[in-house]
Amino acid sequence: MNKKYSIAIHGGAGTIDLATLSQDVIDEVHQGLKDAVVAGETILAQGGSALDAVEAAVVVLENAPRFNAGYGACLTFEGHHELDAAIADGCSGDSGAVANVRYRKNPVKVARAVLSHTDHILLGGEGAERFADELGFDRVTNESLTTDLRREHWETLQEDRDNALQFENAFRFGTVGAVACDRDGNLAAATSTGGITNKRWGRIGDTPLPGAGNYAANDSCAVSCTGKGEYFIKHAVGHDLAARMRYLKQPLKVAVREVLEGSLNYPNGAGGLIAVDNKGKLVVEYNSTGMYRGWKYEEDSTIYTGIEAELTEHSV
Ligand code: ASP
Repeated sequence: MNKKYSIAIHGGAGTIDLATLSQDVIDEVHQGLKDAVVAGETILAQGGSALDAVEAAVVVLENAPRFNAGYGACLTFEGHHELDAAIADGCSGDSGAVANVRYRKNPVKVARAVLSHTDHILLGGEGAERFADELGFDRVTNESLTTDLRREHWETLQEDRDNALQFENAFRFGTVGAVACDRDGNLAAATSTGGITNKRWGRIGDTPLPGAGNYAANDSCAVSCTGKGEYFIKHAVGHDLAARMRYLKQPLKVAVREVLEGSLNYPNGAGGLIAVDNKGKLVVEYNSTGMYRGWKYEEDSTIYTGIEAELTEHSV
Protein backbone atom coordinates (compact mmCIF):
# COMPACT_ATOMS: atom_id res chain seq x y z
CA MET A 1 0.00 0.00 0.00
CA ASN A 2 3.05 2.16 0.53
CA LYS A 3 1.70 4.49 3.20
CA LYS A 4 3.78 6.50 5.59
CA TYR A 5 4.26 5.06 9.06
CA SER A 6 3.51 6.75 12.38
CA ILE A 7 3.90 5.76 16.02
CA ALA A 8 2.81 7.10 19.41
CA ILE A 9 3.67 5.87 22.89
CA HIS A 10 2.61 6.72 26.44
CA GLY A 11 3.99 6.12 29.92
CA GLY A 12 0.79 6.76 31.89
CA ALA A 13 -1.54 9.62 32.78
CA GLY A 14 -2.52 11.16 36.11
CA THR A 15 -1.95 14.11 38.41
CA ILE A 16 1.48 14.89 37.13
CA ASP A 17 2.95 18.16 38.37
CA LEU A 18 6.13 19.15 36.56
CA ALA A 19 7.01 21.58 39.36
CA THR A 20 7.42 18.66 41.79
CA LEU A 21 9.79 16.72 39.51
CA SER A 22 13.55 17.29 39.60
CA GLN A 23 15.32 18.07 36.33
CA ASP A 24 17.04 14.67 36.53
CA VAL A 25 13.70 12.91 36.68
CA ILE A 26 12.28 15.01 33.85
CA ASP A 27 15.33 14.22 31.71
CA GLU A 28 15.08 10.52 32.52
CA VAL A 29 11.40 10.46 31.57
CA HIS A 30 11.97 12.25 28.25
CA GLN A 31 14.85 9.92 27.46
CA GLY A 32 12.74 6.84 28.23
CA LEU A 33 9.91 8.11 26.04
CA LYS A 34 12.27 8.94 23.20
CA ASP A 35 13.98 5.54 23.44
CA ALA A 36 10.61 3.83 23.14
CA VAL A 37 9.65 5.83 20.04
CA VAL A 38 13.04 5.09 18.47
CA ALA A 39 12.70 1.35 19.17
CA GLY A 40 9.35 1.24 17.39
CA GLU A 41 10.32 3.60 14.62
CA THR A 42 13.45 1.67 13.75
CA ILE A 43 11.28 -1.32 12.89
CA LEU A 44 8.74 0.73 10.93
CA ALA A 45 11.47 2.53 8.95
CA GLN A 46 12.82 -0.84 7.79
CA GLY A 47 9.40 -1.80 6.49
CA GLY A 48 8.57 -3.85 9.60
CA SER A 49 5.09 -4.40 10.95
CA ALA A 50 3.12 -2.20 13.32
CA LEU A 51 2.74 -5.28 15.54
CA ASP A 52 6.51 -5.70 15.93
CA ALA A 53 6.93 -1.94 16.43
CA VAL A 54 4.44 -1.61 19.30
CA GLU A 55 5.87 -4.66 21.04
CA ALA A 56 9.42 -3.27 20.78
CA ALA A 57 8.36 0.16 22.08
CA VAL A 58 6.51 -1.33 25.05
CA VAL A 59 9.46 -3.58 25.94
CA VAL A 60 11.65 -0.45 26.25
CA LEU A 61 9.12 1.13 28.62
CA GLU A 62 8.71 -2.11 30.63
CA ASN A 63 12.48 -2.12 31.14
CA ALA A 64 12.64 1.55 32.18
CA PRO A 65 12.31 1.85 35.99
CA ARG A 66 10.33 5.12 35.91
CA PHE A 67 7.22 3.63 34.36
CA ASN A 68 4.59 1.42 35.95
CA ALA A 69 5.13 -1.76 33.95
CA GLY A 70 7.61 -4.64 34.07
CA TYR A 71 10.64 -3.48 36.07
CA GLY A 72 9.43 -0.59 38.26
CA ALA A 73 5.78 -1.70 38.38
CA CYS A 74 3.66 -0.64 41.35
CA LEU A 75 3.01 -2.90 44.34
CA THR A 76 -0.24 -4.57 45.38
CA PHE A 77 -1.79 -4.25 48.87
CA GLU A 78 0.21 -7.34 49.87
CA GLY A 79 3.45 -5.84 48.54
CA HIS A 80 4.13 -7.71 45.35
CA HIS A 81 3.68 -7.20 41.62
CA GLU A 82 0.79 -8.47 39.48
CA LEU A 83 1.24 -7.45 35.87
CA ASP A 84 -1.23 -7.17 33.00
CA ALA A 85 -0.47 -6.73 29.28
CA ALA A 86 -2.12 -6.96 25.88
CA ILE A 87 -1.25 -6.64 22.23
CA ALA A 88 -3.70 -6.28 19.33
CA ASP A 89 -3.21 -6.83 15.60
CA GLY A 90 -5.44 -4.55 13.53
CA CYS A 91 -4.90 -6.69 10.43
CA SER A 92 -6.56 -9.82 11.84
CA GLY A 93 -8.48 -8.06 14.62
CA ASP A 94 -6.97 -10.60 17.05
CA SER A 95 -5.54 -9.88 20.48
CA GLY A 96 -3.29 -11.68 22.95
CA ALA A 97 -3.21 -10.79 26.63
CA VAL A 98 -2.06 -11.88 30.08
CA ALA A 99 -3.36 -10.86 33.51
CA ASN A 100 -1.87 -11.18 36.99
CA VAL A 101 1.52 -12.49 35.93
CA ARG A 102 4.22 -12.20 38.58
CA TYR A 103 7.45 -13.57 37.21
CA ARG A 104 8.00 -11.85 33.85
CA LYS A 105 9.89 -8.66 33.19
CA ASN A 106 8.23 -8.24 29.80
CA PRO A 107 4.61 -9.38 30.00
CA VAL A 108 3.93 -7.87 26.56
CA LYS A 109 6.15 -10.57 25.03
CA VAL A 110 4.04 -13.25 26.70
CA ALA A 111 0.88 -11.49 25.44
CA ARG A 112 2.35 -11.56 21.93
CA ALA A 113 2.97 -15.30 22.31
CA VAL A 114 -0.68 -15.80 23.33
CA LEU A 115 -1.65 -14.00 20.12
CA SER A 116 0.78 -15.92 17.91
CA HIS A 117 0.77 -19.41 19.44
CA THR A 118 -2.70 -20.07 20.84
CA ASP A 119 -6.37 -19.89 19.88
CA HIS A 120 -7.01 -17.97 23.09
CA ILE A 121 -7.04 -14.28 23.84
CA LEU A 122 -6.45 -13.89 27.58
CA LEU A 123 -4.48 -16.13 29.95
CA GLY A 124 -4.39 -15.39 33.68
CA GLY A 125 -2.25 -16.03 36.75
CA GLU A 126 -0.61 -19.43 37.21
CA GLY A 127 -1.79 -20.68 33.83
CA ALA A 128 -0.17 -17.74 32.08
CA GLU A 129 3.06 -18.48 33.97
CA ARG A 130 2.97 -22.14 32.92
CA PHE A 131 2.36 -21.06 29.32
CA ALA A 132 5.32 -18.66 29.48
CA ASP A 133 7.52 -21.42 30.97
CA GLU A 134 6.51 -23.82 28.23
CA LEU A 135 7.44 -21.28 25.58
CA GLY A 136 10.82 -20.72 27.22
CA PHE A 137 10.37 -17.17 28.52
CA ASP A 138 12.80 -16.11 31.26
CA ARG A 139 11.35 -16.38 34.76
CA VAL A 140 12.47 -13.65 37.17
CA THR A 141 11.73 -13.24 40.88
CA ASN A 142 8.87 -10.94 41.78
CA GLU A 143 11.19 -8.86 44.01
CA SER A 144 13.56 -8.20 41.13
CA LEU A 145 10.84 -6.03 39.57
CA THR A 146 10.73 -3.66 42.58
CA THR A 147 12.42 -0.27 42.55
CA ASP A 148 13.16 1.81 45.68
CA LEU A 149 10.77 4.47 44.42
CA ARG A 150 7.83 2.06 44.18
CA ARG A 151 8.62 0.55 47.59
CA GLU A 152 8.67 4.04 49.19
CA HIS A 153 5.44 5.01 47.49
CA TRP A 154 3.77 1.81 48.68
CA GLU A 155 5.03 2.27 52.26
CA THR A 156 3.55 5.78 52.35
CA LEU A 157 0.17 4.50 51.19
CA GLN A 158 0.33 1.58 53.65
CA GLU A 159 0.59 4.05 56.54
CA ASP A 160 -3.02 4.91 55.76
CA ARG A 161 -4.22 1.32 55.46
CA ASP A 162 -7.81 2.22 56.35
CA ASN A 163 -8.01 4.25 53.20
CA ALA A 164 -5.76 2.04 51.15
CA LEU A 165 -8.67 0.87 49.03
CA GLN A 166 -10.00 4.32 48.30
CA PHE A 167 -8.69 4.46 44.80
CA GLU A 168 -10.00 8.00 44.36
CA ASN A 169 -7.99 9.46 47.23
CA ALA A 170 -4.80 9.62 45.26
CA PHE A 171 -3.69 9.01 41.74
CA ARG A 172 -1.50 6.01 41.79
CA PHE A 173 -1.76 4.81 38.29
CA GLY A 174 0.58 4.50 35.36
CA THR A 175 0.72 2.21 32.39
CA VAL A 176 2.76 2.08 29.21
CA GLY A 177 1.53 1.66 25.68
CA ALA A 178 2.17 2.11 21.99
CA VAL A 179 0.10 2.38 18.81
CA ALA A 180 1.43 2.35 15.26
CA CYS A 181 0.48 2.37 11.59
CA ASP A 182 2.98 0.70 9.28
CA ARG A 183 3.71 1.29 5.58
CA ASP A 184 1.20 -1.42 4.62
CA GLY A 185 -1.50 0.51 6.47
CA ASN A 186 -1.75 -2.11 9.22
CA LEU A 187 -2.50 -0.91 12.74
CA ALA A 188 -1.44 -2.36 16.11
CA ALA A 189 -1.63 -1.49 19.80
CA ALA A 190 0.18 -2.80 22.89
CA THR A 191 -0.27 -1.90 26.56
CA SER A 192 1.42 -3.10 29.76
CA THR A 193 0.91 -2.18 33.42
CA GLY A 194 1.43 -2.98 37.08
CA GLY A 195 -2.10 -1.63 37.56
CA ILE A 196 -2.94 0.54 40.57
CA THR A 197 -0.83 0.71 43.72
CA ASN A 198 -2.47 -1.23 46.60
CA LYS A 199 -4.78 -3.14 44.30
CA ARG A 200 -6.17 -6.25 45.96
CA TRP A 201 -8.05 -9.51 45.49
CA GLY A 202 -6.58 -10.23 42.08
CA ARG A 203 -7.98 -7.00 40.68
CA ILE A 204 -7.53 -6.80 36.90
CA GLY A 205 -7.78 -3.48 35.07
CA ASP A 206 -8.62 -2.46 31.53
CA THR A 207 -5.16 -3.11 30.09
CA PRO A 208 -5.49 -6.82 29.23
CA LEU A 209 -9.14 -6.56 28.19
CA PRO A 210 -9.43 -6.19 24.40
CA GLY A 211 -11.87 -3.42 23.56
CA ALA A 212 -11.33 -1.68 26.90
CA GLY A 213 -7.71 -0.53 27.45
CA ASN A 214 -6.23 -1.94 24.26
CA TYR A 215 -7.73 -2.41 20.82
CA ALA A 216 -6.82 -2.46 17.12
CA ALA A 217 -8.83 -2.93 13.92
CA ASN A 218 -7.63 -1.82 10.49
CA ASP A 219 -11.10 -0.54 9.53
CA SER A 220 -11.00 2.11 12.25
CA CYS A 221 -8.18 2.64 14.77
CA ALA A 222 -5.66 1.25 17.22
CA VAL A 223 -5.77 2.56 20.79
CA SER A 224 -3.92 2.19 24.11
CA CYS A 225 -5.48 3.70 27.26
CA THR A 226 -4.27 4.81 30.68
CA GLY A 227 -6.21 5.85 33.77
CA LYS A 228 -8.37 4.13 36.35
CA GLY A 229 -9.13 0.93 34.49
CA GLU A 230 -12.58 0.39 35.97
CA TYR A 231 -13.91 3.39 34.00
CA PHE A 232 -12.25 2.25 30.80
CA ILE A 233 -13.79 -1.21 31.22
CA LYS A 234 -17.22 0.22 32.05
CA HIS A 235 -17.24 2.32 28.89
CA ALA A 236 -15.38 -0.20 26.67
CA VAL A 237 -13.30 2.76 25.56
CA GLY A 238 -11.17 1.09 22.89
CA HIS A 239 -14.15 -0.47 21.16
CA ASP A 240 -16.30 2.63 21.66
CA LEU A 241 -13.79 4.72 19.69
CA ALA A 242 -13.79 2.23 16.82
CA ALA A 243 -17.60 1.99 16.88
CA ARG A 244 -17.95 5.79 16.72
CA MET A 245 -15.72 5.78 13.64
CA ARG A 246 -17.63 2.90 12.03
CA TYR A 247 -21.23 3.83 12.76
CA LEU A 248 -21.15 7.60 13.30
CA LYS A 249 -18.36 8.16 10.77
CA GLN A 250 -16.61 10.34 13.33
CA PRO A 251 -12.97 11.23 12.63
CA LEU A 252 -10.72 9.66 15.29
CA LYS A 253 -9.97 13.02 16.90
CA VAL A 254 -13.68 13.80 17.35
CA ALA A 255 -14.36 10.31 18.74
CA VAL A 256 -11.51 10.68 21.25
CA ARG A 257 -12.69 14.11 22.42
CA GLU A 258 -16.26 12.90 22.88
CA VAL A 259 -15.11 9.92 24.94
CA LEU A 260 -12.72 11.94 27.10
CA GLU A 261 -15.20 14.78 27.64
CA GLY A 262 -18.27 12.55 27.77
CA SER A 263 -18.17 9.09 29.32
CA LEU A 264 -14.73 9.62 30.85
CA ASN A 265 -15.39 13.15 32.02
CA TYR A 266 -13.18 14.07 34.95
CA PRO A 267 -13.37 13.24 37.89
CA ASN A 268 -15.02 9.97 36.93
CA GLY A 269 -12.38 8.75 34.59
CA ALA A 270 -9.30 10.93 34.52
CA GLY A 271 -6.76 9.53 32.17
CA GLY A 272 -5.78 9.54 28.56
CA LEU A 273 -5.09 7.54 25.47
CA ILE A 274 -3.07 7.35 22.32
CA ALA A 275 -4.66 6.26 19.06
CA VAL A 276 -3.98 6.06 15.33
CA ASP A 277 -6.41 5.81 12.41
CA ASN A 278 -5.88 3.86 9.21
CA LYS A 279 -4.46 6.89 7.44
CA GLY A 280 -1.72 7.02 10.05
CA LYS A 281 -3.09 10.09 11.83
CA LEU A 282 -2.17 10.07 15.52
CA VAL A 283 -4.27 11.37 18.39
CA VAL A 284 -2.63 11.85 21.79
CA GLU A 285 -5.09 13.22 24.38
CA TYR A 286 -5.76 13.22 28.14
CA ASN A 287 -8.15 14.83 30.59
CA SER A 288 -5.80 14.52 33.57
CA THR A 289 -3.12 17.11 34.34
CA GLY A 290 -0.51 15.24 32.38
CA MET A 291 0.41 12.15 30.43
CA TYR A 292 3.90 10.89 29.66
CA ARG A 293 3.82 10.67 25.89
CA GLY A 294 5.79 10.70 22.65
CA TRP A 295 5.19 10.32 18.94
CA LYS A 296 6.71 10.50 15.48
CA TYR A 297 5.52 10.71 11.88
CA GLU A 298 7.67 9.32 9.07
CA GLU A 299 7.61 12.61 7.18
CA ASP A 300 8.72 14.69 10.20
CA SER A 301 12.28 14.23 11.42
CA THR A 302 11.31 15.29 14.95
CA ILE A 303 10.33 13.03 17.85
CA TYR A 304 8.01 14.87 20.25
CA THR A 305 7.81 13.97 23.95
CA GLY A 306 5.78 15.59 26.70
CA ILE A 307 4.78 15.31 30.36
CA GLU A 308 2.33 18.17 31.00
CA ALA A 309 1.26 20.57 28.26
CA GLU A 310 4.88 21.30 27.31
CA LEU A 311 6.56 19.44 24.46
CA THR A 312 10.19 18.59 23.94
CA GLU A 313 11.51 18.14 20.42
CA HIS A 314 14.23 15.60 19.68
CA SER A 315 15.74 15.70 16.21
CA VAL A 316 16.69 12.37 14.72
N1 ASP B 1 -5.32 1.46 33.43
C1 ASP B 1 -4.45 0.87 34.40
C2 ASP B 1 -5.26 -0.02 35.31
O1 ASP B 1 -6.32 0.36 35.71
C3 ASP B 1 -3.70 1.86 35.23
C4 ASP B 1 -3.21 3.07 34.51
O2 ASP B 1 -3.33 3.20 33.32
O3 ASP B 1 -2.67 3.96 35.16
O4 ASP B 1 -4.77 -1.07 35.67
